[in-house]
Amino acid sequence: MKVLTSLQELQSFLKNSGESIAFIPTMGNLHSGHISLIQTAKKFSKNIICSIFVNPAQFSENEDFATYPKTPEQDLEKLENAGVNAVYIPSLHNVYPVKPKIQLDIPHLTHCLCGVSRPNFFNGVMTVVLKLILQIKPKFIIFGDKDYQQLLVIKEMVASLSLPVKVISSPIIRNENGLALSSRNGYFSSLEIPEKINKILFECVETSFRTGVELALLEAKNHLNFLDKIDYLEVRSSENLLLYKVGDDLVQFRLFFAGNINGIRLIDNISFGL
Ligand code: AMP
Repeated sequence: MKVLTSLQELQSFLKNSGESIAFIPTMGNLHSGHISLIQTAKKFSKNIICSIFVNPAQFSENEDFATYPKTPEQDLEKLENAGVNAVYIPSLHNVYPVKPKIQLDIPHLTHCLCGVSRPNFFNGVMTVVLKLILQIKPKFIIFGDKDYQQLLVIKEMVASLSLPVKVISSPIIRNENGLALSSRNGYFSSLEIPEKINKILFECVETSFRTGVELALLEAKNHLNFLDKIDYLEVRSSENLLLYKVGDDLVQFRLFFAGNINGIRLIDNISFGL
């Protein structure tokens, strides 16, 4: 595995690499969820590049950019074991030689859910993903369903700008208790709280089929009252994030959750289609 720590090193790797690339952007602190994206990537190409870059542009002032977990040695070992061809770890200057003055926005997808409490988040995500696509020129780019809104936003950016890359989605990896793996789970000394949240979310999905969405959401919000804040608990379309209305076919929808406890933000989503 080649470790590329500058744009120049990336460019010379690309010059000598024959096959089209499958690319997986990450912020590091890798877990089995990230590694599953590599397994998905292998279905599309034998030439796999991962990036590790904690993108300042997607964090607000009051968020955890400075303390975001960093485990570079373990990450490299995991990527090597997973059979990645190259890992790109750009410097801040490689990605942001100038402060971007552009604002990227897809109002129907970015003004709801995470976009409400994190108003610059998707602009930051789109900016960095667009820059990495321009630098790496992959044929495939892989994103997890774990960040489902992000996946739809990137798909729409690629479609709107006719970028020559295919966006591939990969399923959420959960632990044995159903909790979605996340770098931010490491902020908890025990997984009791995130697993309790998770159980309430799965119950909400089941209850929705029995009592209807409105009652199920009310009950789940009640059960989640130990959180400092429920940022959102909403049922929206898996295709375009439109809010669920009575009479819609529930299997086309997802339950979306974000909440804060002890200064830690957790997000998850569950499809009604499974
Ligand atoms: P991050 O490092 O958090 O920016 O995540 C990088 C990629 O890994 C994103 O496409 C995430 O959706 C994906 N990812 C993170 N956690 C999981 C998980 N538990 N299952 C599947 N994909 C995940």
